[in-house]
Amino acid sequence: MAERMLKFVGTPQAMPDKRPAAERRRDFQEIYANYARARAAEQAARCSQCGVPFCQVHCPLHNNIPDWLKLTAEGRLKEAYELSSATNNFPEICGRICPQDRLCEGNCVIEKGFESVTIGSVEKFITDTAWERGWVKPIQPRRERAESVGIVGAGPAGLAAAEQLRRKGYQVAVYDRYDRVGGLMIYGIPNFKLEKEIVQRREKLLRDSKVAFHLNCEVGRDVTMDELRARHAAVLIATGVYKARDIAAPGVGLPGIAAALDYLTASNRSGLGDRVPDYESGALDAAGKNVVVIGGGDTAMDCVRTAVRQGARSVKCLYRRDRANMPGSQREVKHAEEEGVEFVWLTTPQAFLGKDRVSHVRAVRIHLGMPDATGRQAPQEIANSHVNIEADLVLKALGFDPEDLPAMLAAPDLDVTGWGTLKVDGRSMMTRLDGVFAAGDIVRGASLVVWAVRDGRDAAERIHSYLTAKALAAQRIAAE
Ligand code: FAD
Ligand code: SF4
Ligand code: SF4
Repeated sequence: MAERMLKFVGTPQAMPDKRPAAERRRDFQEIYANYARARAAEQAARCSQCGVPFCQVHCPLHNNIPDWLKLTAEGRLKEAYELSSATNNFPEICGRICPQDRLCEGNCVIEKGFESVTIGSVEKFITDTAWERGWVKPIQPRRERAESVGIVGAGPAGLAAAEQLRRKGYQVAVYDRYDRVGGLMIYGIPNFKLEKEIVQRREKLLRDSKVAFHLNCEVGRDVTMDELRARHAAVLIATGVYKARDIAAPGVGLPGIAAALDYLTASNRSGLGDRVPDYESGALDAAGKNVVVIGGGDTAMDCVRTAVRQGARSVKCLYRRDRANMPGSQREVKHAEEEGVEFVWLTTPQAFLGKDRVSHVRAVRIHLGMPDATGRQAPQEIANSHVNIEADLVLKALGFDPEDLPAMLAAPDLDVTGWGTLKVDGRSMMTRLDGVFAAGDIVRGASLVVWAVRDGRDAAERIHSYLTAKALAAQRIAAE
């Protein structure tokens, strides 16, 4: 093993420099700087080059982490980039927004007290460097194929599949109902976690690689699934999940109560320079308001931190379980606390009060009881523990369900699961419709970008196998 590695005993963990909270509160720029080259090498060298690297096992893409850490430590950045991009279509995006504490870094085996290797930050450094140096090049397939594949949805699942299929020489067309490419990476995730230019330069790369985009095109309305099937040799559905879960509580329909994604989309659109009437009228702007966000996942964290940046008077996050049992990333909670967000754990809304618009959330305290069928402690309301919390803007961030897909896509023959996600064959990733595949959140339920990339890559492989088998069968018939 290179002498350079195994430095975790003498070199403390160091994340890239983080901007002070007082400065971060005033803008929507990312909060971490990039590593300087020497610092990236020093941090990569902390890796102990495990024989069985648990970081890699727990990365959904099984990235070859130990090897690209070693190459970074040795200053061989171009090779590190080639290795890292061989398994991940968007390493600089995953390096920024994966919940590493639950994935690669959370499973790094460096002994307790020495802190994990900063895998995500090194991954981001490698690919940001590759972009700066011009190593990231449009795809030039070794051979062009006549068959075309239609992809519905320009989120990470659709884009990863598009890139992989284009590499194999397929003609790829991506359809999206939105006016921009990126799915939730552009309209859901805020700029302070993932700057929009990072997504847009990936879009440009795909366009330069001759992937065709048909935007403002809703499948089921502007084009039917039957038309797509006639146009393309195979179709991939990667439409994500967008139906916001609601709260069944009196007063939930009052003005001043909004769905988290509507709020985040308005903020992202405004940041991109669009005219957003609901933002400009103040309806979806937190400036000067007492904001209460309900939920404990990553969407809730994005709402509270956006509200801070919009100049809210106060921002509270209500979650019915405690900090240890929340689904959101602990790192995000820490950032939010630094930025002035108040977390009100073990509390749930019972009613929304107000005459013409919401003025208070009536909340009740929770006690975590015995574990339920899912193994999680069941929240139980504590009698007579009500509090009224002042609120001018309430954001509901309770998760997402799939829309009625067969109806939305005007494809009644598509099968759905009990959760409303698209049913696919586990091996082929194909739906009930011949040649129609599905990937990403629409199959898995609301998940992560890194899983969408994984699914998009897997779907591209399955589509390739399907089309290869079909072409061979056609040749056989022609020869008979
Ligand atoms: P999406 O990204 O949802 O893309 C689906 C695309 O399909 C969209 O562009 C949509 O317009 C299009 N579409 C839908 N229906 C049609 C139709 N009928 N016709 C044409 N186009 C259609 N994950 C992380 O890893 N880290 C994070 O920090 C993180 N933060 C998040 C914050 C928020 C607020 C949200 C909501 C999610 C977050 N996620 C995060 C989750 C992550 O964004 C998703 O898991 C991921 O984007 C799913 O990818 P996808 O390609 O399956 O779907
Ligand atoms: Fe970690 Fe995500 Fe990168 Fe995998 S893709 S190594 S989980 S940051
Ligand atoms: Fe290196 Fe940690 Fe992965 Fe081991 S688990 S190879 S120490 S990053």
